[in-house]
Amino acid sequence: MNRHNISLNGVTYQWPSRPVVVVCIDGGDPSYIKQGISDGIIPNIERFMREGFSGVSDGTVPSFTCPNNISLITGAPPSVHGISGNYYLDVVTGDAVVMTGPELLRSRTILAEFADAGAKVVSITAKDKLRKQLGKDLDLTRGNVSFSSEKADQCTLQENGIENVLELVGMPLPDMYSMDLSLFVLEAGIKLLERDRPDLMFLSLTDYIQHKHAPGSPVSDEFYALLDEKFGRLVELGAVVALTADHGMNDKSTPEGKPNVIFLQDILDQEFGSGDTRVICPITDAFVKHHGALGGFVRVWCLGGNATPQAIIELLEDRPGIAAVLAKDEVCRRFDLPPDREGDIAVIGDVNVVIGAAAAEHDLSSLDGIRLRSHGAVTEARVPFILSHPLNETYRQRATVGTLKSHQIFDYAINGIGAEG
Ligand SMILES: [Zn+2]
Repeated sequence: MNRHNISLNGVTYQWPSRPVVVVCIDGGDPSYIKQGISDGIIPNIERFMREGFSGVSDGTVPSFTCPNNISLITGAPPSVHGISGNYYLDVVTGDAVVMTGPELLRSRTILAEFADAGAKVVSITAKDKLRKQLGKDLDLTRGNVSFSSEKADQCTLQENGIENVLELVGMPLPDMYSMDLSLFVLEAGIKLLERDRPDLMFLSLTDYIQHKHAPGSPVSDEFYALLDEKFGRLVELGAVVALTADHGMNDKSTPEGKPNVIFLQDILDQEFGSGDTRVICPITDAFVKHHGALGGFVRVWCLGGNATPQAIIELLEDRPGIAAVLAKDEVCRRFDLPPDREGDIAVIGDVNVVIGAAAAEHDLSSLDGIRLRSHGAVTEARVPFILSHPLNETYRQRATVGTLKSHQIFDYAINGIGAEG
């Protein structure tokens, strides 16, 4: 095999001299790490931060799962890779299009580039919705692996490059709404690292726990202690471990504990008439029990003749709970987003507010009286950037100037550790 450096989206990646494992702790707000350190429950992460590298980086806005996972594996913003939300509106058909299709991804991935150069590559995700994009162009006939813990019982050599995953991992198929869905991803990574010693692994968890449990609560403490133990085992097996997140998480409830929601479609319908505008909540996916499809960033398309972007800005910009109302050009410029998948207006909430479509479209009964925690806004775009090993001089310098971006995590984990490139 070739074993040469690869280049993608302006970055050259050296051949990794030992296994590199990048973990996306879904919903892994920096506050969980901070709390875990002060409670003394995450000794491995604490050691990485002390002996390796620790920073907080800027993730992709909107701070949702799909755009950020894709930014991590392409090393680029959505203007390059095209995935700017979990949903967008196809203005030709009028349909809301889910953005998990690999055909919507406009960039090659670091994983596929390395696999084509002869590296052994593993991608494991909690929810199956991400699997096809993460595994795009990955040749699964040559020992590379791509599967989800959600469908770990259905893996085939043809589709996933692996079979009998439950036996390998030694865990039953996890429930969709459980911490095991994430722990399964890590345990599978550990078993594959032991068995195959892949060059590159991307392990992407799910944020079910962070949506329900604040830092310092018994369940999130238990979860982080278990994550920490698994990160320690990956390093013991000889890997460089890099930890980041797709987005953070904040409490979005009123002081009384009710979801703090602005139902934007209802406001716009009242002002401009029903059907004149369409609000799309790009957080939506098929499994919304834990957030009721409510996030801190929505897009508005002007479809009739009444509402204009300027009229919407004037209507909303001084409204309590709204952090920003941005026209298409401005939101694309500010957050590096692809214009053809952007609405006419983006509306971003304050730290403790979520923005919905019409009240009738959101089923909040499933929140079971638990305080709503969610993400999507700028206030959830700051994420951990932690490496198990110290940076070389070049990358230590680089980290001190300018802003650290979470999509640089593969660059830092591969080129920033050990000998200078
Ligand atoms: Zn997420």
